[in-house]
Amino acid sequence: MSTPFLSVRDLRVHFSTEDGTVKAVDGLSFDLEKGKTLGIVGESGSGKSVTNLTILGLHDPARTSIEGEILLDGKDLLTTGERELERLRGNTMSMIFQDALASLSPYHTVGAQIGETYRKHTGASKKEARERAIEMLRRVGIPQPETRVDDYPHQFSGGMRQRAMIAMALVCDPELLIADEPTTALDVTVQAQIMDLLKDLQQEFGTAIIFITHDLGVIADIADDVLVMYGGRCVERGTKAEVLRDPQHPYTLGLLGSMPSLDGPVDVPLSPIPGSPPSLLNPPSGCRFHPRCSFAEQVEDGLCSSRRPTLEIVDGRGAACHLTAERKRELFADYASARTH
Ligand code: SF4
Repeated sequence: MSTPFLSVRDLRVHFSTEDGTVKAVDGLSFDLEKGKTLGIVGESGSGKSVTNLTILGLHDPARTSIEGEILLDGKDLLTTGERELERLRGNTMSMIFQDALASLSPYHTVGAQIGETYRKHTGASKKEARERAIEMLRRVGIPQPETRVDDYPHQFSGGMRQRAMIAMALVCDPELLIADEPTTALDVTVQAQIMDLLKDLQQEFGTAIIFITHDLGVIADIADDVLVMYGGRCVERGTKAEVLRDPQHPYTLGLLGSMPSLDGPVDVPLSPIPGSPPSLLNPPSGCRFHPRCSFAEQVEDGLCSSRRPTLEIVDGRGAACHLTAERKRELFADYASARTH
């Protein structure tokens, strides 16, 4: 069996705070191949962004305790020195954030910022870096890149800034791109354009993408595989079709119930998941979803609140829930029909 390009093994990320230890990520494993997109979905505080900042080595080492392995092309990033990590960031892996304005410096032109990233990692001359910046701006669909390259970020629209940030993230042809809610602040038309752009660039460069979102609609558009996170743990994994068409965890079912159906009638009322995400300082015992799960009473002996359900992954597919497969079939079918009647 070939080694996956990115392999995260039993990752645990805990922070010390004045109130105690926050278990932001608590035993997470997944693989990602080149040219593929993994969608990581969950509410805020589920651990999805922390996971990705840890992959990039952008955590505060003084306050963070990390266990597990993050293997990128066989190299464990958790035992890699800061200098080497800095070389890898931008060169082999890079990230695009939700807020381009906060990520771009207002004091330098867009072209200078893209070019600087290129120079830092390739040793190119200023002239070569400027040409590369123009080429990248053209690639991400900025009109008249030869003149816009000298604009400052505030002279760009929101959608154009997001494109510029993507250009900066891709200027060194990274093999791994982490996109953290990159389209959330944009209107739907620009959102669709950015998604198409990422798909095109992935085809061109064979980049592996981790796409973080709280929106299953976005996942439906871009992901190959999906990982659903809740309370710092993975609760369900599978291909996009498996997870969206045949969810095996009540939390995933709840997320699907809180978004418009992908192909069903448009007048079905949406039902948000009751309650709020768990505290990671004092997470609930057993299954962390149990205080919000409408199926917890269907499991005997109070197991949901006393025992952590294991996540068994077979051929990339699995969910962490005490309900039997047969019980899920009955209960989830009732849930689906209640939504459509
Ligand atoms: Fe719900 Fe229990 Fe399954 Fe957790 S283990 S998702 S509480 S049924």
